[in-house]
Amino acid sequence: MFLETDLERTFLAIKPDGVQRGLVGEIIRRFETKGFTLVGLKFMKVSKELAEKHYDVHRERPFFPGLVEFIISSPVVAMVWEGEGVVAAARKIIGATNPLTAEPGTIRGDFGVNVGRNLIHGSDAQETAQTEIALWFKEEELVAWQPHSAPWLS
Ligand code: ADP
Ligand code: MG
Repeated sequence: MFLETDLERTFLAIKPDGVQRGLVGEIIRRFETKGFTLVGLKFMKVSKELAEKHYDVHRERPFFPGLVEFIISSPVVAMVWEGEGVVAAARKIIGATNPLTAEPGTIRGDFGVNVGRNLIHGSDAQETAQTEIALWFKEEELVAWQPHSAPWLS
């Protein structure tokens, strides 16, 4: 069984297009059935301030204003998932940024057609994940728990 110290957490957000297209259940299912553990979840409209902070690294890019407008346009599902290697594994499950080059079998490869409408965000590294979790969630909104199936996964 893996030690608790091996566990990491990542921040995922189903973007407005994923919610509008009715893909919330399908997207969550992929992380759930893989065996990762949900520790935080909220359905919310995003403020402009939060969207700009979240995408701060892209502030100078030409698509930044449109990206922020899109993220605040309609509700998102913000989530924290936990598990061994979850940061990198979630990025694999999500697929490449551009859905047209994302592999079939990934969320973006299976459902997306446009880089500006690529359905889901996932933290790109452990350090980014920690920053993003702190930005989107209060400590008391995260639930530390152990699924009963955990011994079967380790
Ligand atoms: P990822 O979400 O895969 O980490 P990036 O961090 O490079 O991708 O970009 C953040 C988000 O900005 C992307 O998910 C996408 O929604 C948007 N984006 C990136 N590149 C473009 C682009 N060329 N045109 C429009 N939107 C873009
Ligand atoms: Mg990114």
